[in-house]
Order: sequence, then C-alpha cells, then structure tokens
Amino acid sequence: MSLAVRARRVLLPDGERAATVHTAEGRITAVTAFDDAPSGVVTLAGDEVLLPGLVDSHVHVNEPGRTEWEGFASATRAAAAGGVTTVVDMPLNSIPPTTTVEALRVKRAAAEGQVAVDVAFWGGAVPGDLDQLRPLHEAGVVGFKCFLLDSGVPEFPPLDDAGLRAALTELAGLDALLIAHAEDPDVIAGAPPPAGASYPAFLASRPPVAEETAIGGLLAAARDTGARVHVVHLADADALPLLRRARAEGVRVTVETCPHYLTFAAEEVPDGATSFKCCPPIRESWHREALWAALADGDVDLVVSDHSPCTPELKRLDVGDFGLAWGGIASLQVALPAVWTGARARGLELAQVVPWMSAAPARLAGLPGKGAIAVGKDADLVAFAPEEPWRVAELLHRNPVTPYAGRELTGVVRRTWLRGEQTGGAPRGRLLSRGGSGPTRPVPE
Ligand SMILES: [Zn+2]
Repeated sequence: MSLAVRARRVLLPDGERAATVHTAEGRITAVTAFDDAPSGVVTLAGDEVLLPGLVDSHVHVNEPGRTEWEGFASATRAAAAGGVTTVVDMPLNSIPPTTTVEALRVKRAAAEGQVAVDVAFWGGAVPGDLDQLRPLHEAGVVGFKCFLLDSGVPEFPPLDDAGLRAALTELAGLDALLIAHAEDPDVIAGAPPPAGASYPAFLASRPPVAEETAIGGLLAAARDTGARVHVVHLADADALPLLRRARAEGVRVTVETCPHYLTFAAEEVPDGATSFKCCPPIRESWHREALWAALADGDVDLVVSDHSPCTPELKRLDVGDFGLAWGGIASLQVALPAVWTGARARGLELAQVVPWMSAAPARLAGLPGKGAIAVGKDADLVAFAPEEPWRVAELLHRNPVTPYAGRELTGVVRRTWLRGEQTGGAPRGRLLSRGGSGPTRPVPE
C-alpha cells in the first residue's frame, strides 16, 4: 500500500509549489510534478496546503506517574489532530523522571503500543547523575534537559553553576546537547513572591532579568566547555542581544520560543486566569513583537509548544491564585493554528513559519528522518487549510484547561499521515532514538 498525495501547494524545503509526493513503505520516494501522479493519488482540496508533519521537541507527557495530567495516548492523539507527527517527551513531571537508563526503560514501556505519533525522549541532567549521562546517551535519548532553578517537582532538582559546568564537560565529550530552563533562582528569590489573582504581581515575581542572568551563566559555561546548549521557552526579548552576541562569538547555542509567548500578552491576561500561568511568564506585548521579529530574522530558531498540562484542580481555577496554581500551558493540538494566526496577521508566509515547527526542531533533536517533505524522509504529511477560521472548543488533551479555549484561530489541520498512513485509527507511532535509528533512518540516496 503506497500513498501518493498531491496538492497545488506543497511546502518543500526550497519553497512552495504544485507537486505530487510519492511514498513507499512509509517513506518519501519521489517528489514530482502535480500531473505526474499514479492512479489512486490523494488530491488535496483547493484550499489545502500539504505540509511536512510537525516536530514538537517540547512536550511534557507526564506518564507514568502523573498520567492524570496527560498521558501518551491522549497527548499523541492531540498531536496527530494538530499536525504534529513527532513529539519529544520531556524528562520531568513523569515519575520516575528520565534520569537513568532504567527510568527510560520504564517510560518506553509505558508508551509502547499506545502512541498515535512517533515519540522520542529527552534525558534529564540533575545533581548527582553525571555517571548516567553517557549510558542514557547511548540508550538513545536525543539530549538532556536541566533546570537552573526549582523545577516545580521535587524529584527533578536544578543544577547549580558547578553542576551545570560538570554536566556540560561530560556532554561536550559526547557531543550531546543540553537544553536548559533558564531563569535565575537568586533573582527570583529577590523579587516579590506571587500571591493572589493579580497577573501583574505574578509577572513581577519572575522578572525578565531572571532570564537574562541565567542565560548569561549558561552561555559562559557553554563557551568555557565547548558544549552545545539550547535555551527552551524564551519569553524575554531583552535576552536576544546576549544570544546574538554569543552566537557571533561562536558559542554553540540555539533558542526556542512557544506559541503562548507569540499569541498572548501580559496586558490581556485577566486577573485570576491561571490557565495563562507558565514559567517564564507571558510578558508585555513588546516582548511578543520582538520575539516575532527575532524569528523572522533567524535569531530565534524554533517554535515548540511546551505543552505542560495538569488537572483543573491544580490550576486552582476555584481561587484563581497565581501563587498556588501549577505553571504550564496546554497547547499541543493548537500550536500550528495559533502560530500561523499570529504569523498571518503580521504578513509572514506559511513557508517561513512551518520550518520553525518542523525542520528546525527535527535538527535540534537529531532526527534526520523527520521535518521536511524530501526524498528519504518519513512520509509524515499534513493537509492544512490555512484560511479557514475556527474557534477553539473541545481538544483531545487529557484535561480541558487551556488559555486558547474559545479563541478564534485561522488554519485547520484536516488530515495527518504518519509514515504513509492516515492517523486516527489504531495507534501506530514508534518510539525513536536519537538519529532516528532503526525505522526512521533515511534510505540511502
Ligand atoms: Zn517545559
């Protein structure tokens, strides 16, 4: 059974054109002219664009251990519905956290057989697990996540500067990537604590300089060790000059931002609306606009969801207290339409936006079989109607709380194919290792 799909608009690595995408055994075998199509070809509707399946390298699945927050079945169904064909699971919020090979085995066992899209795994770098980094790397994690301040869960403690440097020295020897939650604990300890329903008070409790200080320390450690680092969920546009300068000096650093920092602004968050609580926080609109500009200029590399849901109870919607509520935003299923809606309003093209959410995160996570419509890649495809408006209602996330609820977005994912088969039936996602070894290794040219 070999899928072929054609459309008047196909998003290819070198731009957009009419084409037929041919596949065999789950991989793309040829990209030809629109009219060069086999019988049985699927022809997209006139308002649909064929996109590569998206890669979301920042998803907290939380299973096992906190499966009531989110689980592999629900998260990956939501991913498929949102055009995401590969998710990379974060090492924390599940119990155990993915800080040992045994914990990775437990997590893979939990995921096996119930994932609707392909799933790869980050390892964790926490104090005292230096000797676990190499075995985890060899076991196939795509890189390592660390926190530079309290993570919110006790079983995943942060690294101090000495711990960060020790981890980076070890990872430099493996040429493995460290991704970091960069907020500085001392800056935050010196800020007024969050309490009550006031969003401005929450914002003041996590000031931008906390990001700049932590990023500065990370960049210095990367420079000194030669390791590769990545800043997750940048919210503070004032940190961009630091990052630009470090890159110009040859520091190996990349940076991501998230749909919520590109969609919302602090001025618009209602008091008590803890569905908007995340860390670092959604900042004032000028940060948002500067992040958009930095994406367009190539100073921010990618956009991934940081899907981090919890139960409605933990969001403390009953009291709307930003000090008590869990910080994390659920958005896996709406990431593409949310980002596209913002991009479209700013005059950006789909061909600019989609690589931020496909090719760039695939590169970050070292998954060469993913993230583009090209010969040899997995036949992960999405039929997207970029001009269709809709209002966010029922999502397939395990828990319904999201700041996107009721929001008008533009752009609908109509169909998703994973390795040549439409999603929505029995779960047939695979568990991937770094490099996409095994089933996702690209065929030789
Ligand atoms: Zn996260």
